[in-house]
Amino acid sequence: MQFDIVVVGAGPAGLAFAASLAGSGLRLALVEKQPEPALADPAFDGREIALTHLSMTLLRRLGAWERIPEADIAPLREAQVLNGVSSFALRFDAEGKGDGPLGVLVPNHLIRRSLYEVVQGLPEVTLLAGTTVAAVQTSASGATVELADGTKLSAQLVVAADTRFSETRRRMGIPATMQDFGKSMLVCRVAHERPHHGIATEWFGYGQTFAILPLNGDVSGAVLTLPAREMDQVMALEGAEFDADITRRYRNRLGAMRLVSTRHVYPLVGVFAQRFVATRFALVGDAAVGMHPVTAHGFNLGLRGADSLAREIRDAVERGRGVADRRALARYQTDHMRASRPLYLATNATALFYTDDRFPARVLRAAALRVGSRLAPFRRAVVERLTEAGAARDA
Ligand SMILES: Cc1cc2nc3c(=O)[nH]c(=O)nc-3n(C[C@H](O)[C@H](O)[C@H](O)COP(=O)(O)OP(=O)(O)OC[C@H]3O[C@@H](n4cnc5c(N)ncnc54)[C@H](O)[C@@H]3O)c2cc1C
Repeated sequence: MQFDIVVVGAGPAGLAFAASLAGSGLRLALVEKQPEPALADPAFDGREIALTHLSMTLLRRLGAWERIPEADIAPLREAQVLNGVSSFALRFDAEGKGDGPLGVLVPNHLIRRSLYEVVQGLPEVTLLAGTTVAAVQTSASGATVELADGTKLSAQLVVAADTRFSETRRRMGIPATMQDFGKSMLVCRVAHERPHHGIATEWFGYGQTFAILPLNGDVSGAVLTLPAREMDQVMALEGAEFDADITRRYRNRLGAMRLVSTRHVYPLVGVFAQRFVATRFALVGDAAVGMHPVTAHGFNLGLRGADSLAREIRDAVERGRGVADRRALARYQTDHMRASRPLYLATNATALFYTDDRFPARVLRAAALRVGSRLAPFRRAVVERLTEAGAARDA
């Protein structure tokens, strides 16, 4: 089977990349481990994705945005950061900049579903679902991908979007730096007695981190971070016991909480690939940069990177340089490294600093929030980063 591009992984990044090449006339194979019904109707996975204005613009352009039901899009009006036992909050809002809310929250499975719907209607894309990659080879003359069932695909370019633990990246011999935070993150939906007023809260407590993501109605995404052993104990609680535990952990701030969804636990490991490209090969999404979720940038970066790579490829093809033009891939790498490395490092530093419960760190954590709250330029810069409103206007 001959293609121009083989994409490995039909997660949100792989799908967005394929959708970005709509109308290009290129032939794409999209290889995905999960069976097609799981892509067409993905199950709720607990992730409520905070989308920036730029991401909304890109999803609109791909034709995915209008496929997400309005009732499932929740505005993020304000964000606040709390530390330890203090009631002091560092607040971020859009400060009447006219760009609307800071961003919106959309469940991950609906982003996946909407992107799948776009991609499955594209004549360029052949979906090969329910299979994995057994071997990948690229050279100056071409690329081949062998699937687990023995099918051989030949292509000009291979793009891997197969999670932060990318097997394809490993097969290609691209090293990645990993930061294992030694903790697990529980995500689920809770209904609560008191309103959240559209405010997202990140509370760096002692011994745990608890975030509340405001959804429509008196419902929030609850995000609890704990050492893995403690997480096992929380997950062993059922029904009223779990509700009581989660209410107590959040200090009753929103009144009694009640679980209204399935629960999902993710290991916290940050990953940054040393290179994003090789001969006839590129990494996108988490396979390139797997972010700690605390700053809610993973998919936003993945979408931006997929768009950047697709634009470079279109440009190279138009100039007659081919799909796997070395200079085009190098430009993608430079652009995406520039956009993602500072965020990746700052996110890891924040996650480590605000989970360090030793006494000196506790003092510094509190001081940093108070200093931050007095620095208007700092808060404006964070809001710009959170919203990407400026980038959305330029896009
Ligand atoms: C709890 C949590 C909260 C988050 N919140 C946010 C947020 O608020 N904002 C934000 O921007 N980001 C957020 N993220 C990050 C975001 O979910 C990821 O960045 C995004 O899902 C990455 O998409 P991806 O397509 O690169 O990878 P994935 O979603 O991991 O998808 C990879 C796909 O590849 C397939 N696959 C794997 N191996 C193979 C193989 N060998 N062959 C074929 N297919 C394969 C998988 O089945 C899967 O479909 C959050 C993440 C977590 C865990």
